[in-house]
Amino acid sequence: MTEIQIPADLLPKDGRFGAGPSKIAPGALDALAATGTSLMGTSHRQAAVKNTVGRVREGLGSFFDLPEGYEVVFGNGGATAFWDIATFGLIREKSQHLSFGEFSSKFAAAAKAAPWIADPSVIKSEPGTRPVAVAEEGIDLYGWAHNETSTAVMAPVIRPAGAADDALVAIDATSGAGGLPVDLNQVDVYYFAPQKCFASDGGTWFAIMSPRALARVEEIKASGRFIPAFFDLGTCVEQSRLNQTYNTPSVATFFLMAEQLDWMNANGGLNGMVERTTASSNALYGWAERTAYTTPYVANADERSLVIGTIDFNDDIDAALVAKTLRANGIVDTEPYRKLGRNQLRIAMYPAIDPSDIELLTKSIDFVVDAL
Ligand SMILES: *Cc1c(COP(=O)(O)O)cnc(C)c1O
Repeated sequence: MTEIQIPADLLPKDGRFGAGPSKIAPGALDALAATGTSLMGTSHRQAAVKNTVGRVREGLGSFFDLPEGYEVVFGNGGATAFWDIATFGLIREKSQHLSFGEFSSKFAAAAKAAPWIADPSVIKSEPGTRPVAVAEEGIDLYGWAHNETSTAVMAPVIRPAGAADDALVAIDATSGAGGLPVDLNQVDVYYFAPQKCFASDGGTWFAIMSPRALARVEEIKASGRFIPAFFDLGTCVEQSRLNQTYNTPSVATFFLMAEQLDWMNANGGLNGMVERTTASSNALYGWAERTAYTTPYVANADERSLVIGTIDFNDDIDAALVAKTLRANGIVDTEPYRKLGRNQLRIAMYPAIDPSDIELLTKSIDFVVDAL
């Protein structure tokens, strides 16, 4: 079955459509190799590495056009580490979480597991849909995912009306940041890992923090709560201002991200990137709606992500076999999120992915289904 050969003129120029780690521009890898002996393998306390970290900090600052007083903070450990960091350094007493898939549920689980704060309030909805945050007495942090990567539902970033003045809104933007529109005035902590829209490698987290969030970090630190050194957000804030991390960073991750940010900023910044993800997602969902054997999994069109698409296949077509055939032809990582257990493909449409490659991908899928 996997001997089906997709004609060359239907093949995307780059066959990587994974939700993460995702496509890295080959040019960025060439640029990394070209640094030769000058960057990797040198001290992270010296200028070459600190300047690379500084490029990322400045690149993010201009990309997001930071509101007054907002800062770019970062540290080692990826988005998953940031959930634990938040339980130590951001949640004062009680948080509220929207839980609508694998990733958004994990921050809720981390808060529930932390014995020094109250059990969180959790608002759930069925996979493929999204709940809405509502202001609640006693909540000092509201958290949800901008883009639930497991289901491809996006959730707008809007401060809940009636939230306490000093309550924080903390958004996991790991797969959304850089490809979805956002008004940072609505959010206090917009955090993400760089192996998705920022086309870099994993292992690092970034958080764009508002003055309110920076004040919370200081307040909790001053309260005397035990905070393990590795999870100390106050230390991360101080270190980030110096263009360094508490312990040794992944230098390649910062370099690849700096290259991608240069490209993003040179191509229209956030608005330019949202234009690309909009073009890609219009192409994908338009095809899925037109095609007899496919349906977009997310029923409400407003909730369909611009950066990841989940496409259900009719029962008489085995999506897993389609993904396997695509893989044999160099089109990789279109398999769905395992635990969702659907007969579907999941396609990333991050800014680095060319909208014309999404169109070619749909043609390749049509060809494979025809041949099967
Ligand atoms: C990928 C992803 C994560 C996990 O990121 P790591 O860097 O692997 O910890 C968290 N949240 C969302 C929304 C994601 O897409």
